[in-house]
Amino acid sequence: MSHYDENTLEEVRRANDIVEVIGEYVPLKRSGANYFGLCPFHSEKSPSFSVNPDRQMYHCFGCGASGTVYQFYENYLHMSFPEAVRALAERAGITLKETDYSPEQKKKKERRDKLLAVQKEAAYYYYALLHSDHGKACLDYFRNRELSDQTMRNFGLGYSDAFSDDLYRHLKKKGYPDDILKDSGLFTFDERGVRDKFFNRAMFPIMDQYSRVIGFGGRVMGDGKPKYLNSPETDIFDKSHTLYGLFLARRSRRGYFILCEGYMDVIALHQGGFDCAVEGCVPVIRQ
Ligand code: ZN
Repeated sequence: MSHYDENTLEEVRRANDIVEVIGEYVPLKRSGANYFGLCPFHSEKSPSFSVNPDRQMYHCFGCGASGTVYQFYENYLHMSFPEAVRALAERAGITLKETDYSPEQKKKKERRDKLLAVQKEAAYYYYALLHSDHGKACLDYFRNRELSDQTMRNFGLGYSDAFSDDLYRHLKKKGYPDDILKDSGLFTFDERGVRDKFFNRAMFPIMDQYSRVIGFGGRVMGDGKPKYLNSPETDIFDKSHTLYGLFLARRSRRGYFILCEGYMDVIALHQGGFDCAVEGCVPVIRQ
């Protein structure tokens, strides 16, 4: 069981309205006192999944799944209970006291925070490069695809330089230790030394639903191989649970998502006003 006290659990639960939380993943329609949608836990054609705003519970009349926002996060997002508490606290902007973490969890959290910091720093680095002399060809590439400066900013687009280890040197200078950099998925460590995985590429930061950078996709400039490259999975980047563009699309009020097959498609749709476009990170990115 968790070691969060009841007051904390209650505070976090109250701050996350169940209709809104589930509505981010399952289109819901009001019918009387309840909301209904297609059950995300079993396959069905007519909605038997109900969400009750008064009781702040969901229940499926088809498969019997039921619970609170916590169980929804546990079962739908495959989180442990403490992870669900943390994610929902974060969603509601509630800071959990550090004492709420066990020593083991605290250590794990610190490591995740460091891995996130590395990705963020890399994203800033690529973004700055795109807007430097080195990034001119890449900037032209984005502009030829009619992306506005605002759109490029919204998606944090960047450029990885033609040097093979400039990001590594940059992050070392910032004080990041090798053991964290090794696990970031951004570098190749072998007997020949350390090299950046991404170079001479248009860079697409992959963000989680909280707008935190967790990995990258890169499209090569010119004829290099492979044309598209994604970060490998890491402790913070789980491809099967990541949708590119979700950090923006989750705020969409459309009630549905448009699933695209390329990062560029997602970006172009958002720029065109379709703010509900996303892409699964498992397939390769296309132009
Ligand atoms: Zn069901």
